[in-house]
Amino acid sequence: MISKIKGTYDILPEESAKWQDVEETIKNVSKLFNFKEIRTPIFEYSELFHRGVGETTDIVKKETYDFEDRGGRVVTLRPEGTAAVVRSVIENKLYASANQPLKLYYQGPMFRYERPQKGRYRQFRQFGAEALGSDSPLIDAEIINFASTLLEALRINDITIKVNSLGDASSKELYKEKLKEYLEPNIHELCPDCNRRYKENPLRVLDCKVDKDSPVLKEAPKPLDFLTEEAKFHFEQVITALDSIGLNYVIDKTLVRGLDYYTHTVFEIDANLESLGAQSTLLGGGRYNNLVESLDGPSVPAVGFAFGMERLLLALESVDKPVAEPFIHCFMIALGVDAQNDALRIVNQLRHGGLICDYDFFNKNLKGKFKQAERLNAMFLLIYGDEEASKNVINVKDTRTGEQEEVPLTNLYRYIVGHINSGGSSCGGNCSSCDEC
Ligand code: AMP
Repeated sequence: MISKIKGTYDILPEESAKWQDVEETIKNVSKLFNFKEIRTPIFEYSELFHRGVGETTDIVKKETYDFEDRGGRVVTLRPEGTAAVVRSVIENKLYASANQPLKLYYQGPMFRYERPQKGRYRQFRQFGAEALGSDSPLIDAEIINFASTLLEALRINDITIKVNSLGDASSKELYKEKLKEYLEPNIHELCPDCNRRYKENPLRVLDCKVDKDSPVLKEAPKPLDFLTEEAKFHFEQVITALDSIGLNYVIDKTLVRGLDYYTHTVFEIDANLESLGAQSTLLGGGRYNNLVESLDGPSVPAVGFAFGMERLLLALESVDKPVAEPFIHCFMIALGVDAQNDALRIVNQLRHGGLICDYDFFNKNLKGKFKQAERLNAMFLLIYGDEEASKNVINVKDTRTGEQEEVPLTNLYRYIVGHINSGGSSCGGNCSSCDEC
């Protein structure tokens, strides 16, 4: 037997409804905030991610799926969405479109060669949103609000929004210098990876998963203390906007995020839910004012976030949300060879009217057909044999009430639709005068 690759998983039919539910909510909330979907390829030239995400990040150093295709191109399965969106914005000159800022969202599979564990996979799905073209602090707040509204729409209410600022390029440079000075006498206390990171890019030492509780890192200088006046003003305005919206947040001075491209605002949202275990961070994002330019585009400021959808589904396990039982509207029970072809046509007409219908394809006996209808949770059984065919009628049994009626074929669709909403009332459920209404 060929098994699935380590770190991947199947979404089986019983689980796909949950995914569709989350995807539908994402689509609806994106619409409310007027974000439009963008779909980019799953693989890109490796250089895009090496330059976009950053050569010194763990993602590029250790986690990308890189390979050479048969034409000798060095390509990478995308480990995240932002670099590809930016590539597409540049290549398609979307930055020059009349509608600014560009408000885009994406969702789809990402690939990272990480150690698989609960909530962490090698193929996982991310949803992300990016707003490009404005350096207004209001759009930083809009993006944070979008992320938190999404969680609210999914009934994930017990969340902590953490915000921080890394400042502009010069604040970051100054901070990097100070951090390097601070780390120099202590670096031998940290892991070998940190020693390498220290030389390449000291900021990345702060992402270390091994030494994250070490006093050396806990007491390290904080980016917020090295902001230029301009960067400080930007951050204050983001905070004012968050207050105006009425969002609860905490300023987390230790937050830096693991990607090189962030400038100014960075944020994460944690959910305080048991089912998430150690992976309590649901999403993260921030401003990236220099990424478009560093990928050979014009100077376009931008801000965005991304979240892992698996983690969101894990979070939803602890959320009290009524789950709709799967059902179908009609199950056709055709009796006799002649009736069978007619029955197929009848079922097809009902489907064209939007009704979920199924059929017995195994030619089971009557008991078997009833059992199958029960397993599928059919609302109505349509019983059609030679006798019904000769009279141009069909027997319809409402499984919720147990009532059975002979219905003219020409009236079948209207009858079913009327009875779906009425839960069995004969009037169709909207007369407001009969006993049932
Ligand atoms: P990042 O792109 O690293 O900023 O991660 C953004 C979000 O993607 C995280 O908060 C997680 O929810 C999710 N994520 C990142 N890596 C993985 C992974 N290997 N498996 C599942 N989800 C992930």
